[in-house]
Amino acid sequence: MSKKNSKGRREFIANSLKSGLAIGISMNATGSFLQSCSPAKAVASSAFQTGFDQQPLPYKYDALENVIDAMTMEIHYSKHAAAYSKNLKDAAMAEKVDAAKPLEELLARISFFSAKMRNNGGGHYNHELFWQCMRPKQANNIPTGNLASAIDKAFGSFDNFKKQFADAGKNRFGSGWAWLYTDKDKNLKIGSTPNQDNPLMDISDIKGFPILALDVWEHAYYLKYQNKRADYIENWWNVVNWDYVGQRFEKS
Ligand code: MN
Repeated sequence: MSKKNSKGRREFIANSLKSGLAIGISMNATGSFLQSCSPAKAVASSAFQTGFDQQPLPYKYDALENVIDAMTMEIHYSKHAAAYSKNLKDAAMAEKVDAAKPLEELLARISFFSAKMRNNGGGHYNHELFWQCMRPKQANNIPTGNLASAIDKAFGSFDNFKKQFADAGKNRFGSGWAWLYTDKDKNLKIGSTPNQDNPLMDISDIKGFPILALDVWEHAYYLKYQNKRADYIENWWNVVNWDYVGQRFEKS
């Protein structure tokens, strides 16, 4: 099947699903999303399920100072990330997605929805995860327990892991994210995605459960580091919340 036909077929399926859903026919692919357009109370964000609303930043804007400056944190959280959440909720209303369901379920079927949903659903999810993956700087900041063992097994050593992960971030051309994630066989993998895509999305080249996320959009570092993305990444290791990352690994 040609690429063109394949795309046409996918659009046909997507449109069929949407119209079927719109008149209340139960469909497996996206059926769990389709609810009324009433403003459902967004699901509370647990450690591993993400709601459509922004959760409070788990530290103050200046808590990561010397690694990420307070102004960058404030603009990033209260402007960029806030807009993803708002635009996601707007798209959810327009496309009849139930905002009371975990965002993860939507991302797994994101190919059936608009570019606005993809960009803002990913943008909101990625930032909610990113904030949790950080904490104030502390000495000897390294992973422990099962995660430390799994990193050594998968990448040879923690230093090798850091180099491969940093390369994923540095080599992402333009805007995007670097990821540590587990694949379907529970193996740890490193990868990157463009724009606001992530490994939960059915359209992503890399697929799995995100363990650790690094934002390499210029808005994440430009005020302090300008064009020096590598310096931002090198310094960022000081504020990674390995306790949280370890919990995500256990969950995966
Ligand atoms: Mn960002």
